[in-house]
Amino acid sequence: MNIKKITIMQMGNLAHVVIYRLGCLSGLCAVAIFGMQTAFAAQEPSDVITTLDKVKDEKSADLKHADAPICSPEALAQGIWHFSYDEASRADLVWSGFGDKRHANKKIHKDVKEPLLEMIKAAKKDKVDLYPASIFRSVKKQAWIVNDKIRKKQKPEQIYFVSSPAGFSEHHTGYAVDFYPVDEKFVKTKAYPWLLENAEKFGWEQTFTADYSKKSGVSEEAWHWRYVGDEYGKHLFEPRTCQSLIVDENRGVIDEIKDLVDDKSSN
Ligand SMILES: [Zn+2]
Repeated sequence: MNIKKITIMQMGNLAHVVIYRLGCLSGLCAVAIFGMQTAFAAQEPSDVITTLDKVKDEKSADLKHADAPICSPEALAQGIWHFSYDEASRADLVWSGFGDKRHANKKIHKDVKEPLLEMIKAAKKDKVDLYPASIFRSVKKQAWIVNDKIRKKQKPEQIYFVSSPAGFSEHHTGYAVDFYPVDEKFVKTKAYPWLLENAEKFGWEQTFTADYSKKSGVSEEAWHWRYVGDEYGKHLFEPRTCQSLIVDENRGVIDEIKDLVDDKSSN
């Protein structure tokens, strides 16, 4: 069994909680809290990196991929929140029915395909075109996107304002969709007001709203929507903050995410 230790220190040095994340067995994952130690009163802020203040509760422990997400330390160093997401397994990805079926970004999680098509069909009835431009994105592809910006000498605050670090994009899950056109022009389309009015009925919500942008430091995106119409979607995207801190031992989790990325992609 795969056992990972995560040490989380709550903001304010109130408690030092040691959590062992137990690996998934027969589709079930477990999280166990093994001990609570007293505060590190003298902990320097510079010794800590960040994660969310929410640790899995028993309810979410049965859900697939129930590992607690973390915040990207690279982005957080710029005051920007990006949460970690597991990449959907290849077996769970299917062609969305749009664009070239060989392209990864036209694939979607099998549980989300019908809810997406249903919403697109309803929009069509109202004479509104919703066209998915980009759905699934691998960790490797996200690493390429970010590394390309680094190569072009963009600053971290510019990069993480509009892009998630590899391992931290909702697109990894196959539960998020960018509708065409993937830029500010989307606000001017008939699709955007239609989505604001109707998406919720179909289980979809906009991730990067104006309000969320203010809190998280991530750019507002009218075109990016995620599915919260099933238990897994609700679990993946439950509201979170990056207000708690994680000590350096959690670097191990960050390194695991980095291991997923092929070195070649950064060249
Ligand atoms: Zn997106």
